[in-house]
Amino acid sequence: MTDLLIKNVTAVTVDERRLIITDAAIAVEGDSIVALDKEAELAAEHWRAARVVDGGGMLAIPGLIDAHAHSPQAMLRGVADDMGWRPYLQEYIWPLQGAYDPDDAAISLKLMVLEMIKSGTTCYVDPLVHTRYDFDRQASIIEEMGIRAVLAKSVMDQTALAQQQEVINEGMLETEEQSLAEADRAIEKWHNAADGRIQVWYGPRVPREPATACSPDFYRKVSDLALEKGVGITVHLAGEREDVDYFRREYDALPVEFADRVGLTQPNLLLAMCCWVSEQEIEILQRTDTKVAHCPSANMKMSSGVAKVREMRQAGVSVGLGCDSGANNNCYDMIREMKAASLLQNIHTMDPQALTAEGALEMATIAGAAAVDRPDALGSLEVGKKADIVLVDLYKLHATPQFDPISNLVYAAQGSDVRTVVIDGRVVMEDRQILVADEEEILAEAETRGQDLLARTGVQVTPNWPVE
Ligand SMILES: [Zn+2]
Repeated sequence: MTDLLIKNVTAVTVDERRLIITDAAIAVEGDSIVALDKEAELAAEHWRAARVVDGGGMLAIPGLIDAHAHSPQAMLRGVADDMGWRPYLQEYIWPLQGAYDPDDAAISLKLMVLEMIKSGTTCYVDPLVHTRYDFDRQASIIEEMGIRAVLAKSVMDQTALAQQQEVINEGMLETEEQSLAEADRAIEKWHNAADGRIQVWYGPRVPREPATACSPDFYRKVSDLALEKGVGITVHLAGEREDVDYFRREYDALPVEFADRVGLTQPNLLLAMCCWVSEQEIEILQRTDTKVAHCPSANMKMSSGVAKVREMRQAGVSVGLGCDSGANNNCYDMIREMKAASLLQNIHTMDPQALTAEGALEMATIAGAAAVDRPDALGSLEVGKKADIVLVDLYKLHATPQFDPISNLVYAAQGSDVRTVVIDGRVVMEDRQILVADEEEILAEAETRGQDLLARTGVQVTPNWPVE
């Protein structure tokens, strides 16, 4: 007997043919999709199901994959708006995160995961998980809340230099020995844990001045370690214009040339940002099958730059999509992010087809699956793939009439239109009711802890307008 049957949906498969199936039903056994067809065609054996979800004509889409999301920054929403990256990081993000204890990191993670599930994200990449957040606790929360995650343990080697520069808050630093030992331990304990929902990668700190914390040899070492252990690496690269000057001056190379030279560029590498990557570097990304995580809202808000997404996609580079952070986006809503990605490419290139709605959905699904190195398991609704299924209700004023479901999903919908979410075959939200956590409790604790954090660190955040 089938474990779960989702009927009465329009299935946006994102399969090889990009087929959309109306009046569809999806049968799930264990963690996988075992049948997907027109209801009238679905084999009789699948109709006897332990649990039936009536989609009521909703859209069924593959779970969205957020390829770059800092979970500790969910609790930093609105702390550092309207500023460039230096004051943003140096005066707000690092001092605040550097003061986190495991309870702060835990509630911030829960807040983010709840928001993700409620807006259709079923898998995400956290690029920098610091030891101070308590890796085991973070992984346990993911195990409990049912989402999929790639947790990249932050690693670094030039701790003494970083301390001397006094740019990165002390609380964000670790020694090479500590950070690598903790990464090894976390990989050993958690990689492929929670029925394969958790992956543990390496997250070397960004090569950037004046916040240098990793040497070229260290990137080389991490690249070797990752290949040896069969895990991935994610690193921020060329997010800001000044980064290009830094690589030119220090290494006589462009950013991706540097990454290539230190052995990072491999199919297991996910580069975040890449706002300042040139056409000649795109060739390296393509040749090495290096993946990219594009974060349009954060890039626009911080005036960082515009990644050549159209050119990368045309060259065959896998470009996923990321919300980045509660502090620079300021939300983790991949449906809104898809629209942002499309609008940004179109205006930047003055080409209304630079990134279509379909292209944006591909980035959030099938390209995201490549970004997290799970192309065979995630990113589309197909028999044999993991049952990560999101039902979106488009019977809304803002999504009517329904001529083209992809257009409505990307250009008209919003995260709150997501009604039901299945991850790894488990219903984690039904009819907007979260089944894996106490939403009210998380909201209340995040508010209290957020206020405490500001009080404790002395960081002032007040509205710009007078408040009576
Ligand atoms: Zn980031």
